[in-house]
Amino acid sequence: MARFIFITGGVVSSLGKGLASAALGSLLQARGFTVRLRKLDPYLNVDPGTMSPFEHGEVFVTDDGAETDLDLGHYERFTGVPACKTDSVSSGRIYSDVLEKERKGDYLGKTIQVIPHVTNEIKDFIRIGEDDVDFMLCEIGGTVGDIEGLPFFEAIRQFSHDKPRGQCIFMHLTLLPYLAASGELKTKPTQHSVKELQSIGIAPDILVCRSEQPIPEKEREKIALFCNVRKEAVVPAYDLKSIYEAPLAYHREGLDQAVLDAFNISPAPRPDLGIWQDVADRIHHTEGEINVAIVGKYTQLEDAYKSIKEALTHGGMANRVKVNVDWVDAEVFDTEDPAPHLEGFHAILVPGGFGERGTEGKIKAAEFARTRKIPYLGICLGMQMAVIEAARNLARMEDAGSEEFDFEAGKKRFTPVVYHLKEWVQGNHTVSRKVTDDKGGTMRLGAYDAVLKDDSKVAEIYGTTRIEERHRHRYEVDLRFQKALEEKGLIFSGMSPDGRLPEIVEVEDHPWYIGVQFHPELKSKPFAPHPLFADFVRAAVDVSRLV
Ligand code: GLN
Repeated sequence: MARFIFITGGVVSSLGKGLASAALGSLLQARGFTVRLRKLDPYLNVDPGTMSPFEHGEVFVTDDGAETDLDLGHYERFTGVPACKTDSVSSGRIYSDVLEKERKGDYLGKTIQVIPHVTNEIKDFIRIGEDDVDFMLCEIGGTVGDIEGLPFFEAIRQFSHDKPRGQCIFMHLTLLPYLAASGELKTKPTQHSVKELQSIGIAPDILVCRSEQPIPEKEREKIALFCNVRKEAVVPAYDLKSIYEAPLAYHREGLDQAVLDAFNISPAPRPDLGIWQDVADRIHHTEGEINVAIVGKYTQLEDAYKSIKEALTHGGMANRVKVNVDWVDAEVFDTEDPAPHLEGFHAILVPGGFGERGTEGKIKAAEFARTRKIPYLGICLGMQMAVIEAARNLARMEDAGSEEFDFEAGKKRFTPVVYHLKEWVQGNHTVSRKVTDDKGGTMRLGAYDAVLKDDSKVAEIYGTTRIEERHRHRYEVDLRFQKALEEKGLIFSGMSPDGRLPEIVEVEDHPWYIGVQFHPELKSKPFAPHPLFADFVRAAVDVSRLV
């Protein structure tokens, strides 16, 4: 049966709980244990699929088609364990399940309450698959003291109480602010946050303290004494050049040892940190740099394109170059010449997105990359934009557009080269959708296979003609335009296995121009860069050497 590590945060949000959890997961793996990481989020959305990327950052999609929190992306990137539906839950999902059971009469005669009904539902969720791994790491979103979080904190308290002694530990992340005026690190917010935890019955076993300054031994002792944890279990977390240094940094500061001590695992298996040493080496020893423009809509919040940014970094590691990313707001050149905004970049990436705003700019970016022979990677909406661009400018369908925008714009006349997908095959059944369906969870989601053309560039890059990638889209390129577009050099080089859904397009006469209907960024890892990103960066390096 798994040992459980519950990870909570206090003082302020955005302390890097997800990263600390992911790094700890990778360190336990390095010591030979199996792990699974989970995120429990207190918000009331049933899942983050309907939240704005501006507010919540990217939606991470799993193989089994769940739309989840971006922290699951960290978990996968650090542990290589594919996340699944049962690794992410929100209050909204828990309440909706409880209410569904209430309607069905599962609790007949009872008054439904937060304790025990909601807390039991949370505990049941945590328990799923508990016999399958050595360690289950469960991160609670938000900070201790938030009203929304209380049922989760109560549930994990009860959970550890239900389990035999020594089966569960609590790890709490806090911040030690530095007061420049007095030149001191302050421990009081940490003490308060631990007090808050203790007031709801949770005594942390490990404290991870974020700090910009080295934490003096004396302060570490003080925190240990006042917060009732062992001194070795007060683990400093300093700012790092790259998040991928986190496993080595946490190991140096003794986090994995403190966790094993808390569980009384002795002797501790020796860690093999080879892959993280290699990753760190690739970050620190680069031979050149490239500049990539990400032409998108949600450019004010980098987290909106988290996995893309990371996958580009991995592509850089594969080529031993530093990848500088510039966020370019497509809307700015919706009606202008994009050249002043895009000249000088070694590659252009148009990411996924929803809605019409900024799409004319993205189409212009696709044209700029095609005609100037700059490497172009179009992801999901970025592929649809590339197809519309080719339809307009190569195949002379000046009114080419997507049903996604024309519905919004009040049904203007257009040729829908991208249409609303109503039917597709999943496994051995057909999924059907209507335009009027609910928005939540109804896209073509999760892993689907694609078959690649033998002599295509993508087949060469992947080194195979059968791939499996993750999807999240409602619209699709219309196959009826394949012939017209291929005649002009836009090749449909990847298709769904039944040959009905275009999955990849590429421009024949171009150094590197590829659009994919799926999200390759979701499967890239620092120790296993995705082939498309590795090769995209390689092509950008070629461009950088020419100029
Ligand atoms: N909005 C487009 C669609 O639904 C693209 C989605 C995406 O980029 N993830 O098909």
